[in-house]
Amino acid sequence: MKKLWFLITLVVMLAVSLVGCTPAAATDAPAAGEPATEKKVVGISMPTKSSERWISDGESMVKVFTEMGYDTDLQFAEDDIPNQVAQIENMVTKGADVLVIAAIDGSTLSDVLQKAHDAGVLIIAYDRLITKTANVDYYATFDNFQVGVLQATQIETALGLKDGKGPFNIELFGGSPDDTNAFYFYDGAMSVLQPYIDSGKLVVVSGQTGMEKVSTLRWDGATAQARMDNLLSAFYTDKRVDAVLSPYDGLSRGILSSLRGVGYGTADQPWPIVTGQDAEVASIKLMIAGEQAYTVFKDTRELAKQTANMVDAALKGQEVPVNDTETYNNEVKMVPSYLLVPVSVDINNYKALLIDSGYLTEDQLK
Ligand code: BGC
Repeated sequence: MKKLWFLITLVVMLAVSLVGCTPAAATDAPAAGEPATEKKVVGISMPTKSSERWISDGESMVKVFTEMGYDTDLQFAEDDIPNQVAQIENMVTKGADVLVIAAIDGSTLSDVLQKAHDAGVLIIAYDRLITKTANVDYYATFDNFQVGVLQATQIETALGLKDGKGPFNIELFGGSPDDTNAFYFYDGAMSVLQPYIDSGKLVVVSGQTGMEKVSTLRWDGATAQARMDNLLSAFYTDKRVDAVLSPYDGLSRGILSSLRGVGYGTADQPWPIVTGQDAEVASIKLMIAGEQAYTVFKDTRELAKQTANMVDAALKGQEVPVNDTETYNNEVKMVPSYLLVPVSVDINNYKALLIDSGYLTEDQLK
């Protein structure tokens, strides 16, 4: 009898424990029609396709975020501010969890970012600072001041200024005045050039210095070319320009066209030292042809990776990697930033930096 009771108890206990399991298992299972795990969505808003770097930034980010298990929504705004605002608004409406934004004009996104913030979206300023809003969580970029230092150091080295050579004639170009990067580039460059200007070893023949005089709206090459045309005809009919500080390859190409138009690039009238930025294919070709002396390489693949790591850490509630909390005040707050290191490129190292690293191919440069 005892044995029978023991068996009955055992059966009842087993049944109870099995029944106990079922509801738990049912709660864990996805509801009908729902995916097992919902991927977070990263909205990526790039300023334009007219410059190669942003295309490569966008593609690299899609790749890295996808590998990390995120969905992406990549949009290019063709340098049209209302277009960028509408694209971001749309990303928020469609339920983006994260926004990664390289702004056309960093000061125009306050309203749409308020909406994004209210919807709980994580907001990252990518390469260019977003200003005039508290709703920017992190900034991933390169050391922008250092970019300018590199460009000016290239001129310093090429002209032998450190060895006391000179005086040389120089003209200065700045980037777009609605992009805070342009000011960092200019200030970085002037931190090296100003002492030579003060001592007379560098002469800005036009007298045009300061971002209010030398900036180039929307980083437009044609605008730079037109300004260089004016400078050459107004100030250089009986003088030679020895160097041109240019902050971006697209401007450098415009400047070089203008110089070509008045006869530079010959044995009698060699090219001035022209700087640049972004290591664009067309400019590396000009470097190989001996026209553009320098550029600055910022590996957009690294910036994409860094951004993805910051996003991933933030979403997982982990410590977000930043290495600068003192530089980028966006007029409302100090934005915690990660600055990557830019690199100087010339004819001697472009192969190692750009081709061996797989950033460009030999074929692209033919
Ligand atoms: C970027 C540069 C780029 C420029 C023009 C800047 O904000 O930092 O890499 O050359 O925009 O696109």
